[in-house]
Formats: sequence, structure tokens, C-alpha cells
Amino acid sequence: EFIEVAEVPEELLGNSARVVRRGAEKLGLHGQPLRRNARHCKGSGVCCFGCPTEAKRSANVTWVPAAVKAGARLFAGSKADRIELGKQHVVHAGALQLEADAVVVSAGTLHTPSLLWRSGVRHPALGRNVSIHPACKASALFDEEIRGWEGVPQGFGIHDLHGEGILFEGIFTPPEFGAFALPFVGAKLTQVMEQYAQMAAFGFLIEDRSVGVLRLDTSRPQLFYELGKPEMEKLRRGVDMLARIFFAAGAREVFAPVAGFESLRSLADIEGLRTARLSPAMFELSAFHPLGSCRASRDPSRGVVDQQLEAHDAQRLFVVDGSVFPSSLAVNPQLTIMAFAQRAARHVHARLSGAPRA
Ligand SMILES: Cc1cc2nc3c(=O)[nH]c(=O)nc-3n(C[C@H](O)[C@H](O)[C@H](O)COP(=O)(O)OP(=O)(O)OC[C@H]3O[C@@H](n4cnc5c(N)ncnc54)[C@H](O)[C@@H]3O)c2cc1C
Ligand code: SF4
Repeated sequence: EFIEVAEVPEELLGNSARVVRRGAEKLGLHGQPLRRNARHCKGSGVCCFGCPTEAKRSANVTWVPAAVKAGARLFAGSKADRIELGKQHVVHAGALQLEADAVVVSAGTLHTPSLLWRSGVRHPALGRNVSIHPACKASALFDEEIRGWEGVPQGFGIHDLHGEGILFEGIFTPPEFGAFALPFVGAKLTQVMEQYAQMAAFGFLIEDRSVGVLRLDTSRPQLFYELGKPEMEKLRRGVDMLARIFFAAGAREVFAPVAGFESLRSLADIEGLRTARLSPAMFELSAFHPLGSCRASRDPSRGVVDQQLEAHDAQRLFVVDGSVFPSSLAVNPQLTIMAFAQRAARHVHARLSGAPRA
């Protein structure tokens, strides 16, 4: 309720989602409007640039103002350089030095381990075990006008393959963003972009068991991640299914983000993709959800933090962000991160009130 989660109403779904729903239903799949934290959404379609109307109830318009109202002091724009860990911790952030009985680090999966490393933490799980939810999309050209940039870009999902670790979600982006996500350049890209109003697009993320590792002894953390064969097969299956959905909806051409299969014109072309020898490097991918670089575990040798998210190696040092998840979530992580934060807040309060470690 606090972040105003509600189902996307039919009138804001947008035609790209409607086309996908039409194709999915023909194949016997079950799509549904997604539940989002944007109850007063106007469907302007520009979520990828930041919501201009604050309809999207992100942390900056929900949790942060609530914390300030409750007495928190915010040092906007300051970067924590390191934490001097001791009986009383000291956070160094540029010219600022803040003494604290407890410190909560929430710099995200890439930067939290980096900050802990700079603070002298050397746990063997620090910066390891990073999952990323590899994500992929496909677009398709139709004879009808779609104007996919109108409506909620991510308003619709298909959950039939979730058991296989594949989650389909809408992903239509405005042309200035969509252009660089198409697998073409030069004259072909121009020709495709001229028909942008007749295009639909849809994406999916996969649950990954492959894990990456962060290099922390550099000025910026660097992630090394190698996509495994099981993940590649999930990607192939996802692209295959999207292409079938688009053709069932009446597409004349499907653009797949797979080298050598950029243009699919028939079910026979999909069959070629299904049986081809592929390698992970042939897929054009994104990764919006890095998780896991400070894994939580009861076992001090496996987890950087314990089940209350307090560091095994330091008293009253907490990690509260996506880095604590022990494995890939297979769903968008924001809500779970927020739920973990609320749970952790109670433990921080208890520890500051003198409770011993659980
Ligand atoms: C384009 C995009 C779309 C997404 N859409 C969705 C969605 O629809 N649903 C969903 O569930 N998830 C979505 N996600 C994922 C979601 O945004 C993240 O998983 C989530 O925000 C991660 O939360 P976090 O607290 O771990 O880290 P973050 O939200 O990344 O917060 C970390 C913060 O720490 C700050 N920071 C880093 N280092 C320092 C430092 N040294 N000192 C001070 N501050 C520092 C950063 O500036 C940042 O503000 C999306 C992500 C992207 C990129
Ligand atoms: S579509 Fe996205 S950017 Fe537009 S109002 Fe809704 S949440 Fe905001």
C-alpha cells in the first residue's frame, strides 16, 4: 500500500502488449497485466528515462521522504569512501566524518562490496556469487499501426514458463532508446526504424545459476560473469517462444537478438534457430538486476552477513540491499529488497537498543 501497487488498467496496457496478448492466447498461453507501484500512472511510456510525473513510487519519492520525515538527516550527493570499523564506527565521505553506533550499507550489489573492501573487510564471499538475471528481447513488424510507445512499457507479463526459469515482461521503449537495442546498423536500421510505429516488442529475464565475481581492488568494481550453457538454452527457448507468439499474432518479420538470426520470417526460420549450434556470445543481452555479492548465510564461512543482515566480521555493520540474496530470485527484485529492508530495520533498532546478536 505504501508504494501504491496496483494492476495496470486495460486502457494503459498499450498496443504492443495487446498484440503480444493476442499471440499468446492463440498459443494457449496466459498473459496478465502486471502489478506495479505506479497507481497514478498516465501511460506516458518513458519509464526508462525516469517517471516525469512521479507516478512511479520509487524510493526517492516514498522511503527517502518518509525517513526524512521521521528524523533522518540526508547528505545528498556524498559518496562514502570507507568505514572505519570499531566499537564506534566512523563513516568517511569526502570532507564528512560521521560517527555511528550502527552503519547500514546499501550501495547496491556492485558498490557495497567495494565499500566494504575499502573498509578492510576481507570475507571470502565478498564480491562473489553475483547473479544478474540475463535479459533478452525481441521485436516484430506488423502490417497494422501499433504505436508501441503509447501506454505502460512494462504493463503485461506471461508466466507460463516461469517454472523453467523464464519470465516474460513487456519492454517497449521510445524510438530514441529502441534504435540502439535493435540488432541492425546503417541502412537496414534506418529502414526498420522508419516502421517503428508498426513494431511490437517484448522481453524476458531468466533465472541464472551461473555466478560472476567482482574485482574489488580497482578504483571501480569490475564484474566478470560467464554465461553457462543451461542459461544459453533458456535464452534460446525464450527467443523461440517470443517469435512464435509474434507470428501467431500476425507478425510479418521478427527481429531476434541472436547473431545470424536477426531476421525471422517464418516458423521454418524459428526451427533453424531452435536447432542451430549457438554460443552465449551470439546473444545480445542486458542485465538489470545484479544480486548476491554479499550473500547472507547463517554459516559465517559462507555468508558476508548473517540472517539478520549483520556482518559476520563486524558488530552493528549491516548490509541492506540486493547484494544479500543468496541466489537468483527469478523475479524483479525491488519489492523483495524493500521487504528485507523493513525486516532489517527492526533488527538494527533492536541492536541499538542493546539486544545481543541473534
Ligand atoms: C532500467 C532499470 C529498470 C528496472 N526496473 C525494475 C522494475 O520494474 N522492478 C523491479 O523490481 N526492479 C527493477 N529494476 C531493478 C531495481 O531497480 C534494483 O534491483 C534495485 O534498485 C536494487 O536496489 P539496491 O538497494 O540493491 O541498490 P540501488 O537501488 O542501486 O541503490 C544503491 C544506491 O547506493 C548509491 N551508492 C553507491 N555507492 C555509494 C557510495 N560509495 N556512497 C554513497 N552512495 C552510494 C547509489 O548511487 C544508489 O543510489 C530495474 C533496474 C534498472 C536498471
Ligand atoms: S508510463 Fe512510466 S513514466 Fe509514464 S507515467 Fe507511467 S510510470 Fe511514469
